[in-house]
Formats: sequence, C-alpha cells, structure tokens
Amino acid sequence: MVPCFALMASIGLWVERDFASDIETQDLAQRVGSLAGKIAISMKRHDAANQPQLAQDLLAPLGHEPSVVCAEYQADGQLVARYPQGLGCRNAVFDDSIDLALGPETFLRVALTEDNWQALVNAQLRNSVISQAAAFVVALIAASIGFQILVSRRLARLNQAIRRAVIKRERITIDERGEDEISELVVEYNRLAKIETQLEDALRQRNQEITQASQTDTLTGLYNRVYCQRHLSPLPVPDVDMITLAVLIDIDHFKQINDTHGHQVGDQVLKEMGQRLKDTLRTDSVAIRWGGEEFLVLINNIPSKAAHKAVERLLNAIRQTPFTTDEGELEVTASLGGCPIDITDSRDLENLLIWADRALYLSKQNGRNRACLVWSTHNAQGQLIPQNLAGGELEWIGISSSTSPTGGSNDMQQAS
Ligand code: GH3
Ligand code: MG
Ligand code: MG
Repeated sequence: MVPCFALMASIGLWVERDFASDIETQDLAQRVGSLAGKIAISMKRHDAANQPQLAQDLLAPLGHEPSVVCAEYQADGQLVARYPQGLGCRNAVFDDSIDLALGPETFLRVALTEDNWQALVNAQLRNSVISQAAAFVVALIAASIGFQILVSRRLARLNQAIRRAVIKRERITIDERGEDEISELVVEYNRLAKIETQLEDALRQRNQEITQASQTDTLTGLYNRVYCQRHLSPLPVPDVDMITLAVLIDIDHFKQINDTHGHQVGDQVLKEMGQRLKDTLRTDSVAIRWGGEEFLVLINNIPSKAAHKAVERLLNAIRQTPFTTDEGELEVTASLGGCPIDITDSRDLENLLIWADRALYLSKQNGRNRACLVWSTHNAQGQLIPQNLAGGELEWIGISSSTSPTGGSNDMQQAS
C-alpha cells in the first residue's frame, strides 16, 4: 500500500502541474497500476519543472523496466506525434522530460534533470550499442561464413586446380553447379583443362610416334643406331651366370646382289633379313640395322654354353632357305662375328663391337657364310686357352680379357 500511495502522491503532483484538467489523480493511479509493464516513457517538447524521481517512483513499484519512446508536443502541450520505441529521444528537443504513456492518448509527463536524463539515455545507448555491436558481430561472422562458402572456398579450389595444372601439369575437373560468375569461371577452366588434356594426349602420342620413328629403320622395321645410343648405352647387366652376346651380321657379296638384280631387290633382301632375324630372336633379345647390309643382334641373358647354339641358329636362319624377291628366289649368306659381354666386363657397346667386328672380319677372311666368336677362358695357371666349342664352320677364338681390343691381330689366336 505504501508504494501505491507514494505513487499516487507523485502522480498527483505531476497531474496538478500539467494534466489536471484531463486526468483525475485517482484514475491515473489506477491506470498506472493496471498498465503495469506496458508503460512507456516518452519525451515531449513541453518545458516542465524537473521531476527526476517521478519515473523511478512510478515504475519501480511496478517492477518493470520502462521502454523509451518519443512523443512530440506543441508548445501548448498538444501531442503532435508519437515515435516508435528508439533512441530518437536523444534529440536535444526532448532531453528535458519523459512522458509515461498510460494509454493511447494519455501521457504522464515527467521532467528530468539533465544528469538523470543523460544517465537514462546513456544506459539506453549502451544497451543499444552493445546489442547493435553484438548484432553487427554476429552479422559479420555470418557474412564471413557465407563469404567463405560462397566465394572464398570456391575461389581457393579454382586457384588450387590452376596451380596444380601449371606446376604439376595435372588436370583436375572441378565440380561446380552454381550459376554465378565464379561458376562461369570454373566452367571455362574445366573446358580449358579438358582441351589441354586432349592436346597433351595428342602431343604425347605424336612424340611417341616421332621417338619410335627416330629409333626405327624404315626399310626393315628393326631398331637403328639411335635406339642403341638411347637404350643400350650402357648395356644391361646380365643375370648371374648369364651372358649377353653381341653378334654382328654382314650380308656376303651384297653389292653383287644390287649390281645383278637392282637396288630394289637389294632392299627386298635387307627387308627379309630383318624379318628373319626378328623371327629367330627371343623377346628379350634385340635386332638392329647397324647400317647398310650390316646388322647387330644382342642376345640377352643366355648361359655361355648356349651361345654357340644361338649363333648357329642365326647363321642357319639366313642360309637355309633362299630369299624371296621380285627377281625370284636368291641364295643369300652372311658372315657373323660375335663377342660375349664378359670378355671386357665393360658395359660399353662400342668397345664390345670392336671385338665382334674383329670376329666378323675373321669370318669374312675364312671364306664367309660362317660365324666367329671371340671367347676367353683361362687354365689353372691363368693362361689363355683357345676354345673350339662348336667346330665346323663356327670358329671360336680365345682372347685374353686383359688384351686391348684395339691391339694388334697377334692378340687373337684362332682355335680351329
Ligand atoms: P662383303 O661380302 O665383303 O661384305 O661384300 P659386300 O658386297 O656385301 O660389301 P660392300 O661393302 O662391298 O657392299 C655393300 C653394299 O651395300 C654397298 C651399298 O651400295 C649397299 N647398300 C648399303 N645400303 C643399302 C640399302 O639400303 N639398300 C641397298 N639396296 N643397298 C645398300
Ligand atoms: Mg658390309
Ligand atoms: Mg657385305
């Protein structure tokens, strides 16, 4: 009851001053009580004496925080307009009093001292600033997350794809389903990546063809010397207890074939020679057109005991059946010179071929249509033992492994 009387007294004071003709004190007090929580504090232009405690006195017993609204009054106290809740009451015009809106048309006007009003406004301002700042921060975070999802991540993905394309030459297709500028950019990137992949594939294919062509002899389809330089230098190391055998093959009296039957028939012989060599070799061996009517065969990974058989097979593959040409069938023979890779222990093909060439020379010297191989064996005293492993038309020549291949012909000992 006490707060109620205090309230009524305060209101009475105030009503006497400004609204005595409109509102009865008793009625006002009842209204204040019944409008608990809905009371608004508003500002008005009308100049009134300071009643700093009035708002407090009125509102404290109701146990509610006032909300602040603004109302504009004419000089005679007539309400001109009421503004929505907000900080408009900071306006200097209103900074000397507060109205309590008790009903649609009923206001209690409360004058405040400058200090009190400022405190009230500052509190409102502070709350408002804090809530606005909080709202701003939340909005900023939301915007930042939105920006991350909508722009940043997609741009980063695109950037990463471009970097990988440029630095690692990798082409990635980016999954993009949007319809904005970034999506257009991604679509264009995907298109470019696809074109570039196709171009690269075509280029790779073309390079392979060019490489293949540059390593292949066009007439015979065998490898050429370029292949040797690229792939057989150094020579592959044979497996344990195995050897690699290099065999030089030179067609006998090939010039006569050309002279007698023409260059074209000579070409046909070369071509068939290439095919016969290919047909005779295992897959891990390789046949090369060394130049003109000379061929090189590298027989990889055979036991040394099988060497003479392999060479014999080559020899027979050439001479056993006549060659088919436009001029009919031709008897063609060749001379062979072979050398195992262990003779020098060198992986240098040129070095190996110096020995093979000397063996070939001996084949030619001894009547052609035969094979000679250089070989090295030593007895218990470490002396060279010339070997005749094959006999017949296959000549074996023992050569000391310490002998220089460029040394005189005295280094060689013919075994048979
Ligand atoms: P030898 O028994 O001593 O080896 O005598 P050859 O006649 O086989 O050897 P020579 O070196 O005297 O002649 C080789 C010939 O091979 C000369 C060259 O015109 C011919 N020749 C080189 N390349 C080709 C080619 O691609 N096609 C044709 N048809 N002939 C070629
Ligand atoms: Mg020759
Ligand atoms: Mg020849």
